[in-house]
Amino acid sequence: MKVTDAKFVKDFINMCDDCFSQGWHERNGGNLSYRIDNKDIAEIKDLLDFSGEWCDIGTAVTGLKNEFFLVTGTGRYFQNVKKCPEENIGITEINEDGTKYRKVWGFAGGGRPTSEFPSHLMNHEVKKNATNGTNRVIYHCHPANLIALTYVLPLEEISFTRELFETMPECSVVFPNGVGVLPYMTPGSVEIAVASGEQMKSHDVIVWAHHGIFCSGDDFDSAFGLAHTVEKASEIIVKIMSTRGSRLQTLTSDDFRALDKAYHLNIPEKFL
Ligand code: 13P
Ligand code: ZN
Repeated sequence: MKVTDAKFVKDFINMCDDCFSQGWHERNGGNLSYRIDNKDIAEIKDLLDFSGEWCDIGTAVTGLKNEFFLVTGTGRYFQNVKKCPEENIGITEINEDGTKYRKVWGFAGGGRPTSEFPSHLMNHEVKKNATNGTNRVIYHCHPANLIALTYVLPLEEISFTRELFETMPECSVVFPNGVGVLPYMTPGSVEIAVASGEQMKSHDVIVWAHHGIFCSGDDFDSAFGLAHTVEKASEIIVKIMSTRGSRLQTLTSDDFRALDKAYHLNIPEKFL
C-alpha cells in the first residue's frame, strides 16, 4: 500500500482537483488541510518517516497535540496536486505541547505546509472544540465574484450575510449562522489567524476582504459545498448589480422565517 492509496488522501486530492476546476485557485492561490482520523493514521503509520526536524508553528495549539494533518504545500499549485501528490501536499505531526510540527510524508523536494498553516491550525482547534471533534476540514480559496463584492458591499457581517441570504434560499439553509467578515489583513499573518479563530467560534465561513473565502467542514464535501454556495450567490449578486443595479423584488424576512421553521435552522435574529 502507498499513502496515496488511503481513501482520505484520494478524497483530499479529488477536492483539490474539483476546486481548481472551479477557477478558484490561480497559480498557488488557496490552501486545504484535513485533521486525520486516528484509525486512518494507524493504517498508514508504517509508511511515515518520523526522522524529520521539529519546526515552530508560531503559536500554541494545545488542543491539537499529537494530531496529524494532511495539508497543501506553500507555493504549490492545486492544479498539480493530482499529477504529483508527493510534491504538492504532505502529512505533518503536531508535537506534545502543540507548539511545533514535523513533516512525516510528502512535500518532496524541500516543500513545507502552506503559509496559512497557523491560520488553519488555530481554526482547526476552535472548530474541534466547537463541534466535539466532528469538524476536520479547513479550506481557503480565491473565488472572483466573492472577492469583487468585498469592494462594493459594506464589510460588516449582518448586511453581507443578508445580501447573500436574499439571493437564493439555499444560503440560509447551508450557512444559517451567516458569514463572518474580516477587513483586509496580510495573508499568512498571525493577525488574520487570530481574527479568523474568533469568527469561527460563531460561523463556518469567513469572508477575507479583497482576498477570498476561509471555511470549515466536517468533511471535504461540506467545506467545498459551503464555498460553492457562497460563490454562487456572489455571482448572482454581481449579475444583479451589473444588470439594473438594485432588486425590484427579493427574498424577505418572512421568507427566511418560513425557511427557519421548515428546516429547523435557528437563524440568529440579527440576520432576520
Ligand atoms: P500558500 O501558497 O502559502 O498556500 O499561499 C496561498 C494563499 O492563498 C495565501 O493566502
Ligand atoms: Zn489566499
